[in-house]
Amino acid sequence: MVELKNVDVLYKESGVDALRDVNIRINDGEFVFIVGDSGAGKSTLLKLLTNEILPTKGRVFVNGYNLSKLKKKKIPKFRRSIGMVFQDFRLIPGMTVFENVAFVLRVTDKSNRFIRKRVPYVLNLVKLADRAKSHPSQLSGGERQRVGIARAFATDPGLIIADEPTGNIDPRLSYEIVELLLDINKCGATIIMVTHEHDLVRYFGGRIINLKNGQVVFDDFIPGESPNSHDEMDDEYYDDEGV
Ligand code: ADP
Repeated sequence: MVELKNVDVLYKESGVDALRDVNIRINDGEFVFIVGDSGAGKSTLLKLLTNEILPTKGRVFVNGYNLSKLKKKKIPKFRRSIGMVFQDFRLIPGMTVFENVAFVLRVTDKSNRFIRKRVPYVLNLVKLADRAKSHPSQLSGGERQRVGIARAFATDPGLIIADEPTGNIDPRLSYEIVELLLDINKCGATIIMVTHEHDLVRYFGGRIINLKNGQVVFDDFIPGESPNSHDEMDDEYYDDEGV
């Protein structure tokens, strides 16, 4: 579960109020899109969730941890409860696809036996079982991001944060990436995806949180255009935000 209660973030050096009185609750198993223009506060929100920064005011809870009170020695365990998917993939170029995914399991001391089972399972989930021996440079952008998703899910984290995961790939393939994240969501992981691609959000629908000037200006479900999308109606998002 993710909860922000009356959160303010003021960057003292610049005097910018990056977030103002933000209240968000995301239950386990949800899939949420976070949208907003550049400078709206999306990165600041993600930095709060990963404990890179603390709020100036208010409280942040993630995966059962109260981040304002998180002891230093508990930070590694907390971080492992989150899988990250990055816009620029962040794969290790000298390693194969298999090793890139295995790496996150090795650093958490998983046995070789476990790794030999888990890596093929997650590569199969992202439809890359046949590319296990390839290096990232031999893959397309879309395939690289599928490795990124496999790596984020390898440790079976409760929460996956995808920060503009479709930002560096062919727009036609963006839909596949979201579909994969939805598959992972069905496996039980909560997904928070930051995006500025309104076409994607419109297509898939679901819960949308829209930030504007550091404030939540919309937090509700919208219907999607895809045949499998949610059917809860809320026209407000389209009318007010012009999306
Ligand atoms: P977004 O990710 O939606 O583009 P950010 O969270 O990066 O928005 O930024 C929100 C506001 O906070 C912006 O006005 C930005 O200039 C400011 N800001 C972001 N990071 C810092 C920082 N480290 N120091 C000072 N101001 C910052």
